[in-house]
Amino acid sequence: MPLLMKLAFIGLGAMGFPMARHLSKQHELIVWNRTREKAERHSREYGGRLAGDLADTAQAEVIITMLPTSREVDEIVGRLLPSVRRGTLWIDATSGDPNVSRETAKRLAEKGVEFVDAPVTGATVGAENATLTIMVGGSPEDFARAEPILRIVGKTIIHVGPVGAGHAIKVLTNSIMGATVWITSECLLLAKQYGIDLKTALAVTNAGSGRSNASENLLPMRLVEGKWPLIFKLVHHDKDIRIAASIAHQQHASTPMLALTQNLFTAALHQLGDQADYIEVAKIIANMNGTTWEAR
Ligand code: NDP
Repeated sequence: MPLLMKLAFIGLGAMGFPMARHLSKQHELIVWNRTREKAERHSREYGGRLAGDLADTAQAEVIITMLPTSREVDEIVGRLLPSVRRGTLWIDATSGDPNVSRETAKRLAEKGVEFVDAPVTGATVGAENATLTIMVGGSPEDFARAEPILRIVGKTIIHVGPVGAGHAIKVLTNSIMGATVWITSECLLLAKQYGIDLKTALAVTNAGSGRSNASENLLPMRLVEGKWPLIFKLVHHDKDIRIAASIAHQQHASTPMLALTQNLFTAALHQLGDQADYIEVAKIIANMNGTTWEAR
């Protein structure tokens, strides 16, 4: 039986809420959320202790953040810095910016707090079912400390390298997904315009070399059934691809496909707004062609 630890969870959004639920089953959890109602709901339904104030989370042995970007993480670090305890481990599950996370790690290290970046992939369904894949940047010792906690919310936990490496691979893998969603949507629309039934086009794609998570799982529900749930905000996806593009810039790398993908997603964000789901870029593609995905 693992030792009961005092954990704090900050950021009970689409991903954080179900992750905190799993953690509260195995450890003593204190929760804080900007909009207090979500933390109250967590506390009511899953028994996590409600932080009266953000500073209450500083009493935990392990602090976990799941926020939109590194900017919000940095702000929370700044607010907690005066009260964090030596020996605390800070796990940042946000899909953040590796440059910022290295600076954050330095600020925390001055207070004797260790930091790992541990972004996740697997979407809200992975958070609900505790089957996330988690990529961790940090020292081997800090990874060893974080791993048993991350295993409560994830299935595959991979140590990628030093601080920042987790955030770097996360945005790169999301960029692969973004480009795949875009090209798959374009080609499926073209098949439709050619007169091929969408279900047939998907069946062929999924039985052949064009198969991907996009063609198997993400697009059929939206394009065929017309269901467009909000699972992963386009604004977060755009942020990830922009961080990937900034890594390319920093490395003086030639990445034309990445640059194009970033431009397309940023344009789509301007069109669709902050509350759109990332797969709604398929609507923009249809719009660019003067059509829609609905059967005519
Ligand atoms: P949500 O927008 O659903 O939740 C964001 C959370 O951050 C909320 O708890 C929100 O509080 C809080 N927050 C926002 N701004 C601030 C602030 N200024 N200060 C304090 N708290 C703040 O995002 P997700 O849960 O979808 O995503 C979180 C992270 O996980 C992102 O980095 C995203 O890229 C990544 N991710 C998301 C996936 C998904 O499928 N959704 C999959 C994998 C990674 P409030 O309730 O007050 O708004």
